[in-house]
Amino acid sequence: MAPHPEREMVFGTQPIRDVQIVRKVNRGTVLELLRRKGPLSRTAIARAVRLTPPTCFSIIDELVASGLAHCTETARSAPGRPRAIFEFNPSAAFSLGVDLSYASFVGVLTNLSGEVLEERWQPRPDPPDVDRVAEWISAFVKDVSRSPRLDPAKLLGIGVSTPALLDAGLERVLRSTNLNWRDVPLASRLAEALGIEVHLENNARAIALAERWFGVGQDVQHLACINIGMGISMGLIVNGMLHRGVSIHSGELGHTIVDPTGLPCRCGRHGCLEMVASGRAILHTVAEAIRQGRSSTLLAAADGNPAHITIDMVTRAADEGDPLARETVLAAATKTGYALSNALVLLDTGMVVLSGSLIHSSHLTFDTVVDIVRRTVLTSPNRTEELPVVRARLGQLAGAIGAAGIVHQRRMALYDAVRVVH
Ligand SMILES: [Zn+2]
Repeated sequence: MAPHPEREMVFGTQPIRDVQIVRKVNRGTVLELLRRKGPLSRTAIARAVRLTPPTCFSIIDELVASGLAHCTETARSAPGRPRAIFEFNPSAAFSLGVDLSYASFVGVLTNLSGEVLEERWQPRPDPPDVDRVAEWISAFVKDVSRSPRLDPAKLLGIGVSTPALLDAGLERVLRSTNLNWRDVPLASRLAEALGIEVHLENNARAIALAERWFGVGQDVQHLACINIGMGISMGLIVNGMLHRGVSIHSGELGHTIVDPTGLPCRCGRHGCLEMVASGRAILHTVAEAIRQGRSSTLLAAADGNPAHITIDMVTRAADEGDPLARETVLAAATKTGYALSNALVLLDTGMVVLSGSLIHSSHLTFDTVVDIVRRTVLTSPNRTEELPVVRARLGQLAGAIGAAGIVHQRRMALYDAVRVVH
């Protein structure tokens, strides 16, 4: 195919010919090619991205001038002229990422390759009111800004991964059961306090993006990333890009109904998966059973008060063989496994990534979900290929790394602006 003088973007039936947008997309495409496949020569880049040499070469010059790429060596392709080789520069810019999903908050400093240069953990304040959380994020930013690994002039901003329903503009937290927040203008509030750009994302989506950009799903175009913790949610990657849906709330697996006559859910309906299979549901079930006289090692672990049982205590007890903990975690994981299996039969993805605090802390949860998905999805009528079911490679840092990556993506059209042509 002949090279394009300028790549044309098509949305629906309308091509976009705005020169600046096309240039930005082309620049992102070249940069992403260098990040993933570099170092490369000028001609190899032009061939791979299917741009004319003059257009491509001027983009490469621009990337070198801005420090995003550098010329690493000049190879002599005998007997021809010396050949310049170009390489992505991951230290051209940095971002911070914070994940507010776990029992301890985590913040990271990353470069453009998603490498973690600094990492800080902080136990979640109790209660996690907005002022205290904002204070911790401010202290984290000040602390990490002094890192010798960061040039403060190259800090682009901070991304915040929240276990929350966000508004369409990704600026406000509409509701977070996990943090007990309602209608919080988090982005503007943090931007005012920190003096840097702030980007918000839902935690399941931040994890899915991190695994797609830097983790286990880098070569997968269709990916479902399930997050099993105190809540249950899913981030979907379709055609290499995040799928948000019409109301931007796609992937709410935890609010699919598994028992219409079941307990009322915070979403206003009855019998959602979260009410029977989330970390919160597990805690409720074991505490109730103990109050009704069931014996368990959990009671001693919580100093005799069922209200003090934590999810880590339950997963540990389950893996150590405590019957109540084991049967409760197994029942929850079984329900999640079948709900996920149903979703995967509908979605027909190329990979499923398991993440979240229950996946990372409970062997029983991980093994049970993997077993059900492998047994049921592979035997579904539409499945002809193996479905890799894998643990998130970035572990508990995935949400924070994804949040930091979102800053780079939005500022520099990096990572998934356009699929790289090989
Ligand atoms: Zn619900």
